[in-house]
Amino acid sequence: MLGQILLVILIILAWIGARSLLQKRLRQDSEERGQTGSSGESAHTEEMVRCARCGVFLPRSAAYPREGVYFCSPEHRQLGRDEPPVRPR
Ligand SMILES: [Zn+2]
Repeated sequence: MLGQILLVILIILAWIGARSLLQKRLRQDSEERGQTGSSGESAHTEEMVRCARCGVFLPRSAAYPREGVYFCSPEHRQLGRDEPPVRPR
């Protein structure tokens, strides 16, 4: 009888422990995912560059470089550099 009660308690403790571990891991996962989504400081985040024609931001691997500047598409690379559309004053 006592053995059975102990067994039940052990199972409950194991269940609680496994659940909290799982929740912790899930939270870490979502935090990591959130970090990659937002503007990053980690080495994993890809550098964002700006299209010199239209000013749109895109990851550097997806950009089209020309003469030291980046463009969002082959069309904009052909059109070449333009003055930035938004000029902060
Ligand atoms: Zn562009």
